[in-house]
Amino acid sequence: MNEKIKCPKCEYENPINFTSCIKCNHRLKNAQYYTENYKDFYELFSPKNLDILNNTQLTDTAYDTIIYNIINIGEDYIKLLPDEASISNLFNITKPYVKIQYDNSKNFPAYLSYYSYNNILIKKTTHASLIPTAILHEFTHHLFNEIIKQSLMHLLNHEKNLLIESFAWYLTLENRYIELSGEFMAHKVQEHFLPDDFEGFTSVIKLLEDNPNLDEQKVKESLYFGNSIAKDIIYILEHFITPKASMYGNVFENQGIEYPIVDISNEEKISRLYSLITDAFNKIINDKVEMQAVLSQMNKNYIYLNC
Ligand SMILES: [Zn+2]
Ligand SMILES: [Zn+2]
Repeated sequence: MNEKIKCPKCEYENPINFTSCIKCNHRLKNAQYYTENYKDFYELFSPKNLDILNNTQLTDTAYDTIIYNIINIGEDYIKLLPDEASISNLFNITKPYVKIQYDNSKNFPAYLSYYSYNNILIKKTTHASLIPTAILHEFTHHLFNEIIKQSLMHLLNHEKNLLIESFAWYLTLENRYIELSGEFMAHKVQEHFLPDDFEGFTSVIKLLEDNPNLDEQKVKESLYFGNSIAKDIIYILEHFITPKASMYGNVFENQGIEYPIVDISNEEKISRLYSLITDAFNKIINDKVEMQAVLSQMNKNYIYLNC
């Protein structure tokens, strides 16, 4: 890790512990800034913004714009025709969005890879043949985070900042249902682009096994929601990646999931996304002291992993 923080004004790279820029004296928003300075937190999670959120609709036109904004992040940068999901192609495609790193640590020994604060970490022990499907999985987690961030930015007409990053991170891990949606969509994307490398909905099944008391109706709704967002993420990625045909002719979709996956309407998908965002926002407003600490810690992790 390179311990630098870029000055937003003059772009000079300062040491991470500096509170103002060596060159231009601009205030630097480093970890210390976010620990000591509550202003940004209270500015974002204000009753005024809650009011805006409650009175602004997430329309399907706005949602489409959000999806196109996310495609544009890549299209401005990637000058390649869509190609199959090889390691080199995926490293290229993901570059404008996330950082991919090989992970030597002992974190998550059972995983091939994991997603953490805009970083895709691939375990050093993961076999090369499994890396493309692992990247697709983690990149889907990132794109779901991006959809949440862009939706909140749109609803509040707010620039992206670290707190918005942390808000999305917090939301996607807030409870088991949203985790189920996230894991389902990540596996759907793998199944779509690399059907023969796909090894089933392992993290969905594990979550269900580890949490036997989840409400069945809510589980189903979470899977349907995950499925509907997966379609949008597939749409985004098809600008850059072509699905690989299965050697076995046809793909049996959703194998290992004990519920039939029902398609939900666009309105239902968007209204669910909107309630996830407003509910999480409300929760933060209602418990500001506790949540300020939670989000500050997340901000620190973002800075730590991305500087
Ligand atoms: Zn500066
Ligand atoms: Zn996952």
